[in-house]
Amino acid sequence: MLTDKVVLVTGASRGIGRATALIAAENNAHVIINYNKSEERAAELMDLIRRKGLNASMIKADVSSEDDVKAMFESIKEEHSKLDVLINNAGIMRNNLLMLTNMEMFDRTIGINLKGTFLCTRYASNIMRKQGSGRIINLSSTIGLKGNAGQTVYSASKAAVVGFTRSAAKELGRYGITVNAIAPGLIETNLIKDIKTDIREKMMSNIALGRIGTPEDVAKVILFLSSDLGSYVSGEVIVVDGCQMM
Ligand code: NAP
Repeated sequence: MLTDKVVLVTGASRGIGRATALIAAENNAHVIINYNKSEERAAELMDLIRRKGLNASMIKADVSSEDDVKAMFESIKEEHSKLDVLINNAGIMRNNLLMLTNMEMFDRTIGINLKGTFLCTRYASNIMRKQGSGRIINLSSTIGLKGNAGQTVYSASKAAVVGFTRSAAKELGRYGITVNAIAPGLIETNLIKDIKTDIREKMMSNIALGRIGTPEDVAKVILFLSSDLGSYVSGEVIVVDGCQMM
């Protein structure tokens, strides 16, 4: 589905990003695995993909740093001369009550989840505009749509990603670029490892499909939007939450 496409997945060292990079490579894309801290995990994924006879490379960049992002896109331009798909997946979740949320938590969350999405989209769209095509998929969250106590900043960052997505879709459509967001519900990754068992069970009882989602559940929808199957979808937010009834 992605033969000859160059696909950049930010935060691909684990979780949803890793599953997305893997499924894109299995669909014959050349996958660029972005990571920040987890070099070993990124290298493991790159080796796994290459051992399957598929194409992958890896690149370190903190998506919240403009210098890093600029250097990452310069290296992509130099190596591939194009970028077909950008998946803005890198994200963090730090939960706390409003009164206990400090400015460091606020800046780091907004810096990675929102500024990172903005920076990567800006540099990617520069390449995509010139080639007259491109797909950008941003990771939002159902928490950004519904809100949740103890998650004001995370929720705000993910709600902002929705507004950003819809506006970028309107602005970039004339260049043949689609921009969409995915809003996952509860997905089994490192991000939710600290949720206590009783809260997790309560959350699960509200999911109509009766299970927590897997990274692959989300990756399959990202693949749809990245491929020709999603060519006339833009400015949308697709919820992937197994029908969570809260
Ligand atoms: P995860 O397992 O914690 O993985 C997060 C990834 O982001 C890691 O690969 C990490 O790489 C990368 N990352 C963090 N800070 C970065 C930075 N500054 N620059 C570049 N990469 C960075 O999380 P996940 O659950 O897969 O989440 C992926 C996305 O889905 C996030 O945007 C998250 O908000 C969203 N989401 C997740 C859920 C869920 O239930 N899991 C629900 C809704 C939305 P390094 O370790 O290399 O830094």
